[in-house]
Amino acid sequence: MRVRWRLLTLLLLIAPLLVTQNESDLDVAAKSSQQRGVPAFNYPIGDPGNALGDGFVIRHGYATENTWYLPGYLHTGEDWYREEGEAAGAAVVAVGDGEVVFAGSDYPGRVVIVRHADDLYSMYGHLDPALTVEAGDSVERGDVLGTVAERGDDVPNHLHFEMRRFLTAWEVNGAAPRYEFNCGTDCPPGPGYWPIDAPEHPSEIGWLNPTHVIASSEESFHAPEVIVAMAARQMGVSVRSEPAENAEQVARLDLNPGARFPLIDVQAGPVDTIKSSADAYDLWYRIELDDERSGWVRALESSTSEAGSDGRPSQIQLGFLPAVESDRLAAS
Ligand SMILES: [Zn+2]
Repeated sequence: MRVRWRLLTLLLLIAPLLVTQNESDLDVAAKSSQQRGVPAFNYPIGDPGNALGDGFVIRHGYATENTWYLPGYLHTGEDWYREEGEAAGAAVVAVGDGEVVFAGSDYPGRVVIVRHADDLYSMYGHLDPALTVEAGDSVERGDVLGTVAERGDDVPNHLHFEMRRFLTAWEVNGAAPRYEFNCGTDCPPGPGYWPIDAPEHPSEIGWLNPTHVIASSEESFHAPEVIVAMAARQMGVSVRSEPAENAEQVARLDLNPGARFPLIDVQAGPVDTIKSSADAYDLWYRIELDDERSGWVRALESSTSEAGSDGRPSQIQLGFLPAVESDRLAAS
């Protein structure tokens, strides 16, 4: 990933030398990168008029342990909750263009699976039965798939969201699942969890870190701005010369929710990380400051508000988000 971002940075630097850069040239650049098969993704949940993902928290991240729900297992997706209040009814949107290849099940709640490429799928679980799509539909990035269900059991309402390289894999959710789950055989939604003591990490099975996949897509890079999340918990952040905690601090930035900064570059950790806590989440934005200097800020923080049985963090708090909205969210 890092190599690819370097390449993109280089392309961005030399682009003005090659073309007279105006809006239509940028559009062409974005389109041609999509034609090269580089997908464009956004966060999977949001409210009308807000940046997608804003107001939400990943209470249990990818490849973390959720001790109160299923100790001994790694979560194969991200659970998106509202920062405050009830997630039920929140709009769930397609993270990228694709085709709905599955819509149904009782997870509890419905599951929608979108195929973006032959080996890349997004999966959205615990949706209200009144879905707005069905299998066979084509969807575009930001299209509403449904809303978060009101479950009716003792688990708080949330979206379970996965990015993965398979629809069914025989030993996971196909003809002969290796581990018993409610899901049973030939079940496209899959188990949602994978034993910690299994020989393979979920990334070696084909699940991916969803936030890293989204951040590594072209659209994040082309988002004109990033926005400080409404619920950014820190008072301020260090702006650094490189995307690393030990890099030189070039400025200190007060975090005012809603403040916007031009986005220059993105660095995300590996999509197939084999770490197993929220500390594996690694996302940096290079932003332009008011004084036209630029630097790198951490876009998210891990938190032990939820933790595995070994005490390591399972929760991820978003500090900065791409200022990307969906105009298809109905005000409710
Ligand atoms: Zn989940």
